[in-house]
Amino acid sequence: MSLARAKNSMKKGLRRVFATLNGLGLGLLLRKLGCARGGGIVMTHCVGHVPETAYLPSDMKTSCEKVDALLRALKRRGVKVVAVRDLVAALDRGEDARDLLAFTMDDGYRDNYTQALPLLSRHGASGTVFVETEVVGSRTPSWMHRYFFICAKRGETFFADEYARRTGEEAIRAKLQRAKGGTSDLGARYDLKRVLKYDADPQDRDRVTRAILESIGGDDRSIASAYLTWDEVAALDAAGVEIGAHTLHHEILSRLDRGGVEREIVGSTRAIAERVKHPVVTFAYPFGRRWDYNDDCFDVLRGLGYTSACAAIDGTNEPSTDRLQLKRLPLNDDIPIEDVLAEIDGTFPLVRKLFRVQI
Ligand SMILES: [Zn+2]
Repeated sequence: MSLARAKNSMKKGLRRVFATLNGLGLGLLLRKLGCARGGGIVMTHCVGHVPETAYLPSDMKTSCEKVDALLRALKRRGVKVVAVRDLVAALDRGEDARDLLAFTMDDGYRDNYTQALPLLSRHGASGTVFVETEVVGSRTPSWMHRYFFICAKRGETFFADEYARRTGEEAIRAKLQRAKGGTSDLGARYDLKRVLKYDADPQDRDRVTRAILESIGGDDRSIASAYLTWDEVAALDAAGVEIGAHTLHHEILSRLDRGGVEREIVGSTRAIAERVKHPVVTFAYPFGRRWDYNDDCFDVLRGLGYTSACAAIDGTNEPSTDRLQLKRLPLNDDIPIEDVLAEIDGTFPLVRKLFRVQI
């Protein structure tokens, strides 16, 4: 085993040990001692397991049981679950927001309305849904959803071979060949996705994923049935769930020119504002890593009056945190709620400080 891999598995082990200790009482103790962290934002995608999202990988879904368990655990701690706009308002007042946690759901899946809303309402909780707007209106999903659908039906090797054959581009073929040999199916799925995301020609990607999808009997409309309708978006808003924007087409914003960034952000903002009849103040960057957005995004967001934007960078937020790069804590079927709790109770931050290790 290489040194890097050994270090990585040690970190994972430490994480599991301390997350478990947190659940056994360390978390509540640290909270009593004043070690809790405020400004937490949980990041999820689909909530519950509905037939329409069966093709999506497990790290894009969080079971209702898990969300329910998290909401119960937060209630025991006296932590209120809110929308991002409410958390940001508290941070703006200079509060450490230890008694608040924002719950976010990215992309705009229909189960956010059918599964998550009843759960949140039952617990007196709220949250923010970030909507990718074009698919809501036109029922045309992004290449990423076609890709996941094809992989789920026919496997990663089939996809890589078909894509290489249909584009006929040697550079992509070589990269896909390397990626499809990932260490596990899920590893290969993400290695291939990375090639599509960063190396493929965007027009090719759209055309070829659609062609492969159709060749196996799939179609955009049935994939898009996983997404909210505009009526459901309006109903979520009316129920007090914040609707945030997440671009028109889930593009990698840093790959677009300034005009493209404007079209994506302004377009989705207007589409939502028209439906909910009030300004949209919270945004989430598609993919959300630091290299997926840039200064152009900040300019456009400020110009539109946005007060905050969420990234997909791990951590909690303080009054001094850049509002246009809010950190989040991921939760899905592969991540236990104890990881979120150990972060906000102060156990993980304490371990990092004591052992000087980035778990
Ligand atoms: Zn997204």
